[in-house]
Amino acid sequence: MKILVQKFGGTSVANQERREMVADKVEKAVQQGFHPVVVVSAIGRSGDPYATDTLINLANSAGSKTNPRELDMIMSCGEVISCVVLANTLKKRGHNCAVMTGGQAGIITDENFGDAEVLRVEPQTIYDFLEAGIIPVIAGFQGKSEKGEITTLGRGGSDVTGAIIGEALNADAVEIYTDVEGVMTADPRIVPDAMVMKKIFYNEVFQMAEYGAKVIHPRAVEIAMRSSIPLLIKNTMSDSEGTLITNYDKTRKYRQDKKDKIITAIAQIGSRTQVKVFFDGSAGEFEKDSYLFELIASEGISVDMINVNPEVKFFIIEDYNIEKLQKVLASKHFQYELLSNCTKVTIIGNKMRGVPGVMAKTIRALSKFNIEILQTSDSHTTISCLIYTEFTNAAVNALHQEFELGKA
Ligand code: ASP
Ligand code: MG
Repeated sequence: MKILVQKFGGTSVANQERREMVADKVEKAVQQGFHPVVVVSAIGRSGDPYATDTLINLANSAGSKTNPRELDMIMSCGEVISCVVLANTLKKRGHNCAVMTGGQAGIITDENFGDAEVLRVEPQTIYDFLEAGIIPVIAGFQGKSEKGEITTLGRGGSDVTGAIIGEALNADAVEIYTDVEGVMTADPRIVPDAMVMKKIFYNEVFQMAEYGAKVIHPRAVEIAMRSSIPLLIKNTMSDSEGTLITNYDKTRKYRQDKKDKIITAIAQIGSRTQVKVFFDGSAGEFEKDSYLFELIASEGISVDMINVNPEVKFFIIEDYNIEKLQKVLASKHFQYELLSNCTKVTIIGNKMRGVPGVMAKTIRALSKFNIEILQTSDSHTTISCLIYTEFTNAAVNALHQEFELGKA
């Protein structure tokens, strides 16, 4: 049985016109000989009547804070509503459909309400429908616990549903439909000539998400990666091919092809503060690297871009942690300096592994535009530069140009 999982996001099912476009995509899959399995998000975005945020606000509007268990109960309704309306759209066209909650579809989770983890999928009911020629229309973002409690998988979790169902059914592919043409080389609001990529590797998309580009839920990529199921990011409102997210290309030559681009994409994440902690003896017995970082961790503050030198320790934090960090450092008399309004810009690409000169090129691109680099960090497949936020657009464009990402 050729199975295709098709997941449609909130904007794709926002109104009847869009839902007809969704139905076109499902019909196309049928015509191509697939058994489609449809997964949907709640209708629309915050403010729309049945969107997730609207349901959360409704619950809280009574004046007391909704407990996590009941919040999951109300949030899960958004996707269920969406399923029924979409299924009716498909039925009108003569397709036999069956609507299922995540729990009915066999998604079993732990009871970590609001961010539940999928323990396993029991796909027999889905198979039964497929064998009877019925299209399953499954509510994304939710599951049930062993005890039958309704749970949700964390915000944006419908992508996770799509991937986990794809894995459980050993689907040919999982299509993620949204309102953009695919994964882009940079944020098109910043870089006018950003391009849609035809293909990208799982780990690169994973990094894009981690370094600030919103494409798809990283957990969905992880699931697809572990079971090698191709993921396709497509636009509900167009017929373009979209972006294929896949594994290393086995046919790829060992040596670097001159035409190959070293960099795949650029991502950026703002609202960061650089912290320098000086070890000048003033904090006495506390001045041990391990003590400092344990202290910060014990307050639940996560740090990034860590550089440890004997006299000074550099790292960055998210802005919302500034006050907390200041309190902790002051309590042990650490000498420190903060630099706010920073953004981390990252270039990502599997092919930079072992290629000399990528850092030089990065620095050259930024210095051409007099953009000061406050700090860097790197891995085999990424280089991040911390800069002042006001230079973000200039920096992303400079790097996009330097690495020729805007050219086919
Ligand atoms: N509706 C849920 C949310 O807004 C899940 C999703 O859209 O993927 O987070
Ligand atoms: Mg989403």
